[in-house]
Amino acid sequence: MMYQISGHTRFGGLLGSPVSHSISPAMHNMAFRELGIDWVYLAFDVTPDRLRETLKVFRELNAFGFNVTMPDKQSVMEYLDGLSTAAQMIGAVNTVVNQDGRLIGHNTDGFGFSESVREKGFKLAGAEMTILGAGGAGRAAAVQAALCGVKKLHIANRRTRSWAAAEKLAEQICRMTDCEADLTDLDDGPALARQIEASTLLVNATPVGMASQSGRSPLPDTSPLREGLTVMDLIYEPARTRLLEDAGRAGCRTFNGMYMLLWQGAEAFRLWTGQEMPVEKIREQYFSR
Ligand code: NAP
Repeated sequence: MMYQISGHTRFGGLLGSPVSHSISPAMHNMAFRELGIDWVYLAFDVTPDRLRETLKVFRELNAFGFNVTMPDKQSVMEYLDGLSTAAQMIGAVNTVVNQDGRLIGHNTDGFGFSESVREKGFKLAGAEMTILGAGGAGRAAAVQAALCGVKKLHIANRRTRSWAAAEKLAEQICRMTDCEADLTDLDDGPALARQIEASTLLVNATPVGMASQSGRSPLPDTSPLREGLTVMDLIYEPARTRLLEDAGRAGCRTFNGMYMLLWQGAEAFRLWTGQEMPVEKIREQYFSR
């Protein structure tokens, strides 16, 4: 049956820059059609300097909500009326819900992370884990891992502008959860190797290995890669990064961030609509390559 936009159709979408490559409009519009919801989801190219006026329009025109991607995930926080606990701890928002005119910020990247790990048969509860990078996605995965019962979490970051925030993140995780978190310099090869050797899950949350940097690995040394270690790269384009290639050769179980993307979208959909996204249909249509 053909879908007709009507006088009742509500809108929402994705704010960020660039956004034209995003799979989110296809994913959410298919889910709305499957469930007979008269909403549309569009991509809006919005840089941080235009967020205030964009949000004013979204509020006035009764948008159901929106997703936020780079570079707006942090800047958007100052224009919102409330934040979920996860968004506060992570310090970034990727989903906003319009609750009767109040814009409430959430972060579903963490849920996307834990669901995709669970699907691959890895149990976070009681595990020891190393994560490379403490930007928006790394922080979301780190907080969620701690909330899911990871016992020891090693965060590795460069000693750059984000170092102080990474220190605060490790301190906050120790204070607010039962997880023991520490921070290491990503360039301290021997310390990083010891932590990876003690871990059963290694996660790359740096952009090193993305299409623009393909052929590069975020690890200074591949020696800690071994059988028994599971390696996840949050990057999904390319599907097999240099890190995943190296890890596969060393006998590690490996997977990329594609299903994290699917599950963060499913959680955003649930927050907006109160209904479950038809995940298997979406997976078959857009994520089965
Ligand atoms: P971000 O906020 O910019 O954070 C990037 C992190 O990586 C920071 O800690 C940054 O440290 C570090 N980093 C950047 N360049 C580096 C380099 N050359 N060497 C070592 N560390 C470096 O980015 P993000 O949003 O967290 O995204 C990180 C990755 O996750 C990207 O590849 C993104 O595509 C992917 N991602 C995937 C999903 C998914 O659903 N699968 C969702 C979100 C993001 P500095 O502060 O020192 O630069």
